[in-house]
Amino acid sequence: MKRLLLSVTILISLSCSHKPTEPVPELSTQNTAVCILTFDDGYASVYYLAKPLMDSLGFKGNCFVICGQVCPDEPNSKGPTDSVRWGDKPCDKMTWHQIESLHTDGWNIYNHGWNHLIFPDSSDINSCYSCLKEKGFNANVFAYPAGLYDEKTVNLVKLNHIAGRTTDPGLEDNLNSYVLRGYYVKTQTPLDTVKSWIDLAITQRKLLILIFHGFCTKTNKETKNILNLQSFKYILQYLSENQNLIKVETFQ
Ligand SMILES: [Zn+2]
Repeated sequence: MKRLLLSVTILISLSCSHKPTEPVPELSTQNTAVCILTFDDGYASVYYLAKPLMDSLGFKGNCFVICGQVCPDEPNSKGPTDSVRWGDKPCDKMTWHQIESLHTDGWNIYNHGWNHLIFPDSSDINSCYSCLKEKGFNANVFAYPAGLYDEKTVNLVKLNHIAGRTTDPGLEDNLNSYVLRGYYVKTQTPLDTVKSWIDLAITQRKLLILIFHGFCTKTNKETKNILNLQSFKYILQYLSENQNLIKVETFQ
């Protein structure tokens, strides 16, 4: 966040007039666009399918976990699969063990509420926050379930969090906001549209938050939220090709 704030400071400094005696701030690699990849709901396919791709490019992600929907800490799969099960029950979310593994590898784990309630009450927000904190995650960013928020929800989030993320589309200047905008990448979102968001962030040197959910490897498993892995790979590759112009970072 400091880097982002610094970038904004430099941009503001550059756009304002300078006294001739003042050194003009040096344009550095910090003064580039930033992309933050977020993954909502804690799908196991993030662990099995998305993370290996991210690892291959050196990217880290940010997971917004629904604490009340984390799968039991037993093997929920023998490996990458489109239909993850635990015992006889389908369970397509990560286990705590898998979430801890992401965290160990440098991913951020954040709060998405205990039960994914729309307009959650304080109990739903704080119980998931406390649960994540007890497990050692600094879960001080909240993603509003379904992207919906009102003044009351925002005020509740402010108590324990430094930022809140919506699904309102748009770019940001920094992370100091409880109504952070981001672009929700759905299965029906054309890849050229995703590219145009990245290009816009690069041109305007802004912060681009991309929102994903789960992934699949088979076309017939796609839903609005479950993106084909090939599409995700295409987006990551475009970010990688432009890594001199847009940095993939985590919230903190
Ligand atoms: Zn969600």
